[in-house]
Amino acid sequence: MSTPHPAGPFCQSCGMPLVEPKDFGTGKNGIRVNDYCAYCYADGAFTKPGMTMEEMTDICVDALVKQGMPATNARTLMAATLPMLKRWRAAAGAGAGV
Ligand SMILES: [Zn+2]
Repeated sequence: MSTPHPAGPFCQSCGMPLVEPKDFGTGKNGIRVNDYCAYCYADGAFTKPGMTMEEMTDICVDALVKQGMPATNARTLMAATLPMLKRWRAAAGAGAGV
Protein backbone atom coordinates (compact mmCIF):
# COMPACT_ATOMS: atom_id res chain seq x y z
CA MET A 1 0.00 0.00 0.00
CA SER A 2 1.49 3.28 -1.00
CA THR A 3 -0.46 6.37 -0.19
CA PRO A 4 0.65 9.67 -1.63
CA HIS A 5 2.19 12.05 0.84
CA PRO A 6 -0.62 14.21 2.20
CA ALA A 7 -0.44 17.90 1.39
CA GLY A 8 -0.31 18.78 5.05
CA PRO A 9 0.40 22.11 6.67
CA PHE A 10 3.70 23.87 6.18
CA CYS A 11 5.65 25.98 8.60
CA GLN A 12 4.65 29.59 7.89
CA SER A 13 8.18 30.71 8.66
CA CYS A 14 10.55 28.30 6.88
CA GLY A 15 8.22 26.31 4.61
CA MET A 16 9.05 22.96 6.17
CA PRO A 17 6.25 20.39 5.86
CA LEU A 18 4.66 19.66 9.24
CA VAL A 19 4.08 15.95 9.37
CA GLU A 20 4.75 14.46 12.78
CA PRO A 21 3.62 15.92 16.12
CA LYS A 22 7.21 16.76 17.01
CA ASP A 23 7.50 18.90 13.87
CA PHE A 24 4.96 21.42 15.15
CA GLY A 25 5.89 24.44 17.22
CA THR A 26 4.36 25.07 20.62
CA GLY A 27 2.51 27.97 22.14
CA LYS A 28 2.93 29.42 25.61
CA ASN A 29 0.93 26.64 27.26
CA GLY A 30 2.76 23.93 25.39
CA ILE A 31 -0.20 23.70 23.05
CA ARG A 32 0.65 22.74 19.53
CA VAL A 33 0.54 25.54 16.95
CA ASN A 34 -0.35 24.54 13.44
CA ASP A 35 1.36 27.43 11.68
CA TYR A 36 5.00 26.97 12.63
CA CYS A 37 7.56 24.22 13.08
CA ALA A 38 9.37 23.39 16.30
CA TYR A 39 12.60 24.95 14.99
CA CYS A 40 11.02 28.31 14.26
CA TYR A 41 8.52 28.63 17.09
CA ALA A 42 8.62 27.37 20.66
CA ASP A 43 6.83 28.34 23.88
CA GLY A 44 4.77 31.00 22.18
CA ALA A 45 7.56 32.90 20.43
CA PHE A 46 9.84 32.70 17.44
CA THR A 47 13.12 31.07 18.36
CA LYS A 48 14.96 33.75 16.36
CA PRO A 49 12.69 36.79 16.46
CA GLY A 50 15.16 39.14 14.76
CA MET A 51 15.72 36.94 11.76
CA THR A 52 15.22 38.45 8.31
CA MET A 53 13.81 36.68 5.28
CA GLU A 54 17.28 36.79 3.72
CA GLU A 55 18.76 34.95 6.69
CA MET A 56 15.97 32.40 6.57
CA THR A 57 16.61 31.93 2.85
CA ASP A 58 20.27 31.14 3.51
CA ILE A 59 19.42 28.61 6.22
CA CYS A 60 16.79 26.87 4.11
CA VAL A 61 19.02 26.81 1.01
CA ASP A 62 21.76 25.28 3.11
CA ALA A 63 19.40 22.58 4.39
CA LEU A 64 18.10 21.78 0.90
CA VAL A 65 21.62 21.59 -0.52
CA LYS A 66 22.50 19.08 2.21
CA GLN A 67 19.50 17.04 1.03
CA GLY A 68 20.98 17.01 -2.46
CA MET A 69 19.30 19.94 -4.20
CA PRO A 70 21.52 22.17 -6.36
CA ALA A 71 22.04 25.54 -4.64
CA THR A 72 20.62 27.50 -7.57
CA ASN A 73 17.40 25.49 -7.52
CA ALA A 74 17.13 25.77 -3.75
CA ARG A 75 17.54 29.55 -3.87
CA THR A 76 14.92 29.89 -6.60
CA LEU A 77 12.54 27.69 -4.61
CA MET A 78 12.95 29.65 -1.39
CA ALA A 79 12.67 33.00 -3.22
CA ALA A 80 9.30 31.81 -4.52
CA THR A 81 8.14 30.21 -1.28
CA LEU A 82 9.17 32.39 1.64
CA PRO A 83 7.38 35.63 0.60
CA MET A 84 4.13 33.64 0.53
CA LEU A 85 4.44 32.50 4.13
CA LYS A 86 2.60 34.24 6.93
CA ARG A 87 5.71 35.36 8.79
CA TRP A 88 7.20 37.18 5.79
CA ARG A 89 4.13 38.22 3.87
CA ALA A 90 3.78 41.50 5.73
CA ALA A 91 7.42 42.40 5.24
CA ALA A 92 7.40 41.41 1.58
CA GLY A 93 4.14 43.16 0.81
CA ALA A 94 3.37 46.80 0.10
CA GLY A 95 3.78 47.62 3.78
CA ALA A 96 0.53 49.57 4.11
CA GLY A 97 -2.45 48.48 6.10
CA VAL A 98 -3.03 45.20 7.96
ZN1 LIG B 1 9.88 26.57 10.51
